[in-house]
Amino acid sequence: MFDPSELTRKKSLRLFTSLKAGGPAELFYQARTVDDLAEASIYAQQNDIPTTILGGGSNILPSDQGVPGLVILNSTKAIEFQEGGVVISDSGVVLQELFLKTLQANLAGLEYCVGIPGSVGGALVSNAGAYRSNISEFLNEIEIAYQGKREWVSPDFMQFSYRDSILRKSDAPQATLLRIKFKLPTGDPKSMYDEAREYQRQRISKQPPSASAGSFFKNVYDKSLAESLTNLPENLKSAGVVPAGYLIESCGLKGRRRGGAMIGARHANFLLNAAGATATELRQLANFASDTVKKKYGVQLEEEVLYLGDWSRYLPMA
Ligand SMILES: Cc1cc2nc3c(=O)[nH]c(=O)nc-3n(C[C@H](O)[C@H](O)[C@H](O)COP(=O)(O)OP(=O)(O)OC[C@H]3O[C@@H](n4cnc5c(N)ncnc54)[C@H](O)[C@@H]3O)c2cc1C
Repeated sequence: MFDPSELTRKKSLRLFTSLKAGGPAELFYQARTVDDLAEASIYAQQNDIPTTILGGGSNILPSDQGVPGLVILNSTKAIEFQEGGVVISDSGVVLQELFLKTLQANLAGLEYCVGIPGSVGGALVSNAGAYRSNISEFLNEIEIAYQGKREWVSPDFMQFSYRDSILRKSDAPQATLLRIKFKLPTGDPKSMYDEAREYQRQRISKQPPSASAGSFFKNVYDKSLAESLTNLPENLKSAGVVPAGYLIESCGLKGRRRGGAMIGARHANFLLNAAGATATELRQLANFASDTVKKKYGVQLEEEVLYLGDWSRYLPMA
């Protein structure tokens, strides 16, 4: 049961992020059950305390100045299987774990999740996906803590689009995802396993081992830009997709450094914490990359990674 006296102050968030950077949470609480998560969220909502839920921390960059209000680390982990392919997952369940458990239950649809770090809740917020699939497929209902109460809502609440949902907006409603109900089709375990293994193989060949948040920027959907790029592969040209990494690489920025931050030498859309980078250095380098792309191609890259907390003292790279 949630008890406000258990809130800790000034807890560093660095170790809870995959980029290994960022300052402290003003108030911090670790929720281990969905009831604790709901109660802490409702307590904050009723007391007008701004709240940030932390899943795996694999898609965020908290400011060095810290995150005001309450940060709840979501360590919930229950998964329940029901008749007819219905799976109810706590939002804190590790996505990989959900995939493995559904595979064992001969349920298909989450094969592409292999290798995507983080929690089920975090995956919903950014509509995470890979290989032309994403987490907003096969959703049935979502339990949220919102406006001081718990309720089940339709997935429409999330207003999903490519790597986006209402919870990523700057004026996002103060809502916590508690549990997610999926309805998954039956699958053939051998072919699901083979497909997941192939995805994993492709990932290992592309992903750098250093601390990162995966792809830092979203890919660009712009047919005329895609068609104008002579060496872009034909399948991307016809789909009108320009990978952000392609644009950054063609500006000659692979391996570029700012303090301990570095643009991936293998994959230019991976921003790496190569040597104790601060959050400021990481953001400065990211902004430098997007400004350089804007100057060369006229397109504004949009971050997939979310900046959290107080960036009021942030200054871009001189
Ligand atoms: C090596 C690597 C590879 C990656 N590959 C991919 C990929 O292939 N495809 C892809 O889409 N992403 C990828 N990512 C990015 C990231 O893993 C996903 O976006 C992931 O789904 C984020 O989940 P998380 O739990 O870590 O979210 P966090 O980073 O903890 O949080 C992200 C946002 O969601 C909010 N949030 C989290 N949980 C809740 C909740 N329960 N209720 C309300 N808000 C919540 C947070 O406040 C924050 O705003 C990769 C990252 C890394 C490091």
